[in-house]
Amino acid sequence: MPLSSYSIPPERLAAARRSFAAIVGAQNLFFDAEDQDSYSDAFAVDDSRHRPAGAIAPDTVEQIQAIVRVAAEHRIPLWPISRGKNLGYGGSAPVLEGSVILDLSRMKKIEYDEENGTVLLEPGVGFYDLYDFLKARGLKHWLSTPGNSWGSVIGNALDRGVGYTPYGEHTTKLCGMEVVLADGTLVRTGMGALTGSPTWQLYRFGFGPAWDQMFVQSNLGIVTKAGLWLMPEPESLMGMDLEFDRPEDLGPLIDAIAPLRREGVLQQSPTIGNWLRAAAILTTRAEWTDQKGALSDTVIAAIRKKFQMGWWGVSLRLYGRETINREAYAILESEMNKLKPLSMKRTSWKRGDPLEMTGWTGTPLTFPMQNANWHGGLGGHIGFSPVLPQSGSAAMEQFRRTYQRYQEFGMDYQASFAFGERHLINVNAILLDKDDPDMMRRVDPFIRTLVADAKAHGYGEYRTHLDYMDLVASTYDFNGGALGKLNAKVKAALDPFGIIAPGKSGIGTAAGQSGDR
Ligand code: ADP
Repeated sequence: MPLSSYSIPPERLAAARRSFAAIVGAQNLFFDAEDQDSYSDAFAVDDSRHRPAGAIAPDTVEQIQAIVRVAAEHRIPLWPISRGKNLGYGGSAPVLEGSVILDLSRMKKIEYDEENGTVLLEPGVGFYDLYDFLKARGLKHWLSTPGNSWGSVIGNALDRGVGYTPYGEHTTKLCGMEVVLADGTLVRTGMGALTGSPTWQLYRFGFGPAWDQMFVQSNLGIVTKAGLWLMPEPESLMGMDLEFDRPEDLGPLIDAIAPLRREGVLQQSPTIGNWLRAAAILTTRAEWTDQKGALSDTVIAAIRKKFQMGWWGVSLRLYGRETINREAYAILESEMNKLKPLSMKRTSWKRGDPLEMTGWTGTPLTFPMQNANWHGGLGGHIGFSPVLPQSGSAAMEQFRRTYQRYQEFGMDYQASFAFGERHLINVNAILLDKDDPDMMRRVDPFIRTLVADAKAHGYGEYRTHLDYMDLVASTYDFNGGALGKLNAKVKAALDPFGIIAPGKSGIGTAAGQSGDR
């Protein structure tokens, strides 16, 4: 039976709060109605769900260890967040309503190994914090930032967020962690297990089983530090911004980029976005139509014309030595010209030039968040993001199927196809109009339909909103859900009272798996 809310008996919560206050100071406890609001999910489809009981904000590892011991004693579910800006996936809110948010945003220490290009970060270090820190030291290393960079570097990597430089698959750049387990034990993974090792941030695996990914999209521990590799400042950056005219241009474009990516000619992870992904941050829907339901082809054509957009756009970037970039650029140019793009705009940067404030240079940015205003009024978005092979025909089929569903459910189609090394992630955003109850009622059945469509083709999601963690976990069903059972066994062994993030990634939601609450 799924466990969606948990009301902590008031006397237990009161006793736990007294102990928490003794650990972190009463000024770092946030249990007013206003606090509960601000730690809820600002983009929730259903505002009645996932409301926390309150929050507690420690700033040392010892405090966290003491907090989990109190939580175990009083059976208080804790939901760790780094900066809690995971908007579209639940923000700072917990799966289990009534959980206490463990807000780690006050923990902001940065250790920088300039020679090796690594950092060891506490969870509260935001992309802006790390950027300012590196800038003050001459930006010898660049960040990889997500489209909305107001979150934390570690929180983003822990939810497998992505960016656009060659270091864009953030979770694969993690190297070594420090973790507090549910019983309060402090563990260091990889080479960190060897006291005093100078290679904690250099070699990921240590000796024996390697555990870093066990704490990613997981509720098996609270990450208090993590190592991350940074990209050395390149000598040159070259690239092109391309627009393609027709929906069916997607397939050949994917088939052209994929081999370049696999060969390593292209080392960053490009993302092919449809016109609305670009338009939703430049204009609002009301400027074009007052008709409800999916946008008509005429309106789409008018918006594209005004902003000179293709149906799809993609940016390709090369980072590194200038001579190598020049040769690689010629290859990209020739391959892309074969596809007859609508436009190809060249860009280049050389060390010493002023840095363009774009995601391509690893500078943090927030303007893409403007898309939450597409409908005007109270906005938001929620995603549906299945993992596909890097195949033009598979992507075209996925696109056609999904586009058809957007029409059927009366939603405006916003999507991208983001390259990893060997896979594509088809990120579909549903731009919410929270002032339109009729639309909001359609969102849940729409997402459930999309998940079922993907599952029917063997595709599963890489990440999902709190509301769909159980659903998505259930699609990973090989051998009677053996993976889910393994997760549950490990969870029960490490966290018998289910105090760390019950329900995260569909783990620890069934009654009985979460201890004796
Ligand atoms: P960001 O600050 O980058 O927006 P969040 O703090 O929202 O990231 O983190 C995203 C998700 O990752 C959280 O909802 C939580 O499930 C998980 N998470 C974040 N920080 C930690 C941590 N320090 N330890 C364990 N899990 C974490």
